[in-house]
Parts: sequence; structure tokens; C-alpha cells
Amino acid sequence: MTQTVIDLAVKQRDHRNSGRSRVTTIVVLGVIAAVGLFLALVIGRPDPDTPPTCDGKTMTHQNVCRIISRSGGGSYSYSEMIDRRESSSEVWRYIGFGTAGLMVVFMGVAFTKLDPKRPWGKPVGAACPRCHQPTLRENLTVHSVTHGRTTHRYSGIVTLCNPVCGFATIRQR
Ligand SMILES: [Zn+2]
Repeated sequence: MTQTVIDLAVKQRDHRNSGRSRVTTIVVLGVIAAVGLFLALVIGRPDPDTPPTCDGKTMTHQNVCRIISRSGGGSYSYSEMIDRRESSSEVWRYIGFGTAGLMVVFMGVAFTKLDPKRPWGKPVGAACPRCHQPTLRENLTVHSVTHGRTTHRYSGIVTLCNPVCGFATIRQR
């Protein structure tokens, strides 16, 4: 398993150096932000003028809607049904705008943290045993394998030299 963790570290380093990690992360966060905006602007859109529905039927001003529910059942007038609908729209707006805002913050963090100019890992204060250059960097690497409901984690601090030298080693924390 140690070779698998080392291979993963090499893959993560190369991925980051190419800038693809940053693009992928920002795209994923952007998609989640878009879903949040959809929830806020479409599902959560205020709509106080459309007649409410009761059990799938459009209500008139004279109707009373009886709702049987363990939490907050009862009889509701036309305007009370509009209020109920609008307060659930409001919840969707909070969730949607909240999610979108959080994703924008994460996108900012990812933009800085996954900058390809920031090298993978931390420098090691020793020369490489193979090429004798001070080019070693190390980083904690975790490889997870999921079998059904159990996840096994294999981790270690991987030390890598530059790709030309190719020296790699792993140690436990
Ligand atoms: Zn080396």
C-alpha cells in the first residue's frame, strides 16, 4: 500500500502543478453555487399574487384548507395559505443564497490555495539522497479505499524530489 500512497502523492503534485486541480475545484464549486442560485431565485421566488393550492386544487378566497400534520396542522384561509407558501419560499432563499455565498468564499480560498505557483508540500531541510540537490518536498497524503460501508485510510508523509530525479519515500507520522 505504501507505493499506492506515493503514486497518489505524485499524481496530486503533478495535477496541482498543471493548474488542473484549481480549475476542477472551481468548476465544481461554481456548479454548486449555481444550484444555490437556482433554489433561491426559482424555487424561492416570492409569488404573493398566484392563488394558493390546497391538496393540489387551486383555492378561491372563500375556501378553507384543512391540513393534517403532526407539526402545525389545522385550518388555513386563502391568505394564510399564501403566507405558508411565502415563508417556505423564504427558507429556500436563505438556503440558496447561503449556499451560493459560501461557495464563492470557497472559490476564493481554492483560487489561492491551489495556485499552480504554490508548490506541493513543504520544503525538507535536507539534500536528496539520490541527486544531492535541496529539492525535496514533503506532504501528508491520504489514500482512502471504500468497500461497501467501510472506508480504509492509508496515510503517510510522502517526500518527493523533482520529477527529473524521481526520488520518493514515505514515512509514518
Ligand atoms: Zn533527487
